[in-house]
Amino acid sequence: MNKKRHQVVVIGSGFGGLFSTKALKHANVDITLIARTTNHLFQPLLYQVATGILSEGEIAPPTREVLRRQKNAQVLLGLVEDVDLVNKVVKWRFHEQYHETPYDSLVVATGAGQSYFGHDEFATFAPGMKTIDDALELRARIIKAFEVAEFTTDPAERRRLMTFVVVGAGPTGVEMAGQIRELADTTIRQDFRAIDTSEARVVLVDGADQVLPPFGPELGAATKKKLEKLGVEVQLSSIVTELDERGVGIKRADGEVERIECFCKVWAAGVKGDPLGQVLAEQSGAELDRAGRVVVNKDLTLPDHPDVYVVGDLMSFPGVPGVAQGAIQSARHAAKDIRARVEGSQPPGEFKYFDKGSMATIARFSAVVKMGNIKLTGFVAWVAWLFLHLFYIAGFKQRVTTLLSWFISFVSNGRSQRVVTNQQMVGRLALERLGSHTSGKLIQGRSHEADGDDDAVPYDEEELTPAE
Ligand SMILES: Cc1cc2nc3c(=O)[nH]c(=O)nc-3n(C[C@H](O)[C@H](O)[C@H](O)COP(=O)(O)OP(=O)(O)OC[C@H]3O[C@@H](n4cnc5c(N)ncnc54)[C@H](O)[C@@H]3O)c2cc1C
Repeated sequence: MNKKRHQVVVIGSGFGGLFSTKALKHANVDITLIARTTNHLFQPLLYQVATGILSEGEIAPPTREVLRRQKNAQVLLGLVEDVDLVNKVVKWRFHEQYHETPYDSLVVATGAGQSYFGHDEFATFAPGMKTIDDALELRARIIKAFEVAEFTTDPAERRRLMTFVVVGAGPTGVEMAGQIRELADTTIRQDFRAIDTSEARVVLVDGADQVLPPFGPELGAATKKKLEKLGVEVQLSSIVTELDERGVGIKRADGEVERIECFCKVWAAGVKGDPLGQVLAEQSGAELDRAGRVVVNKDLTLPDHPDVYVVGDLMSFPGVPGVAQGAIQSARHAAKDIRARVEGSQPPGEFKYFDKGSMATIARFSAVVKMGNIKLTGFVAWVAWLFLHLFYIAGFKQRVTTLLSWFISFVSNGRSQRVVTNQQMVGRLALERLGSHTSGKLIQGRSHEADGDDDAVPYDEEELTPAE
C-alpha cells in the first residue's frame, strides 16, 4: 500500500465500521479497519441464532471476505484500548502484542453494549443479546433447561426449569419471547417423553407501559395481543428488582412484588455506549449522554477534532435511534466528509437522518412494521421483514443459506441449529472466574495488568455458576 496517501483508521466492523469503509472504496485513501472480532455481525438476527433457526456463520461473515475486493482496505484483528487525539494514533493490542496505528482521519464505530441499569451482577445469570457469544450461550441455556427438566422429577424444580423470563419488551425481547414460545409449542414438542414442552411458561417483563414503545401505542397493543395469544405472559410497568441464579424478583407499578423462579433469563433491556466513548470524551471535551454515547457535532465529528468521527450506536445525535439505518447513514456521511476533505471539494455539512421505519417479528408469519404513517401487522408485515433482512445480510453465500434455513424453519417448524456445547453454556462464567489473563478475555477485555487480578478462582461446573 502507498503510505503517502491519506490514512483512514476505522474502529469496529459492525454496520458503522463496514459501511464507512465500503463508502471509501473509490476514494484516494488507505483504510485500516481494526475490530476485536474477525466478522461483521448482523445483530438483528442474533435472536434466531439463540433459538436455533440460524447458525452464527449465516449472520456473521468474515469482515476480510466482505472487503476482499476493496484493495484500499486492510482488516486487522485487535482490541482498541486508547486513542491519542493529539498525536493522532490509535493504540490497540492482540493479546500481549501492542500496536500503534497513526491516522489522518478516524472513524469510531464501536457500538454499544448491554446496560443492566446499575446492576451489573445480573449479567452473571442473565446474558444479554449483543454478541455471537451471547446468542450461543442463550441457545445452550434454553435447550439445556428442557433437557434437565426431562429427568427432573421434583415438580417445583421442573417448573422452574421450564420457566423463561425475558427482560425488555423492545424488538429483541419480543422476538426472543415469541421464538422461545414457538420452540416449546411446536419445534421440540414431539421430542420429549417425560415433559410436555408446551407447558413452558414464557414471561416478558418491561418497566414501560407498552411493548415496542418506539412503534407507538397501536402497534404496541397489537403486538401484546398477539404475544398473549401465543401464550407469552406480558408483564408491563414492572421493574426487575432482583435477579439471581434461581429466579427474578419483579415489582409492579402498584407496588405488588412477585418472585418468579426460573433457570433461564434473557436480558434484552438497556444499552450503554462502548467504553471507548469515555476515552474520546475525556480527551476532546465531548459530552456523553445518559447512555454513555458520545454527543457529536452536526457533521458527526468530535469538538475541535474535525478529523475524528463517531458513528452508529456509539454516537448521540438528536433524532437518530440506535438502529442499523442510523449506523449505515452516519457511516456514509462520515465517509463523504473524509472524501471531500481529501479531494478538496464541498463537504456534505450537517448530517440528516432519514427514518426508513422499524420492524420486528413476533412469530412465524407475524410481524409489525412502522414506516412513517404506514403501519402493518401480520403476514404482510412479516413478508416485508423477510425481504428487508435478506437484503441487508452481508454476503451472497449467507443470503442463500439463510433463505434455506428459513424455508426449513417456517415451512416445517424444524430448526437445524440446535447443537449446544458445554463451552457455550459455561464458557463466559468460567473465563470470568479464571481471571482476565485467560486468552478469551485478552482480546475482548482489559489486560490483567490493568485488572490487577491474577486470581484463578475455582469453578463449579456442575452448578453452572461460579463457586463461592
Ligand atoms: C439483538 C439486537 C437486535 C437488533 N435488531 C435490530 C433491527 O431489527 N433493526 C435495526 O435497524 N437495528 C437493530 N438492532 C440495532 C443494530 O444492530 C445496531 O444499531 C447496529 O448494529 C449498530 O452498528 P454499529 O456499527 O454502531 O455497532 P455494532 O454493530 O455493535 O458494531 C460495533 C463493532 O465494534 C467492535 N468493537 C467494539 N469495541 C471495540 C474495541 N474496543 N476495539 C475494537 N473493536 C471494537 C465490535 O466488535 C463490532 O465489530 C439490533 C441490535 C441488537 C443487539
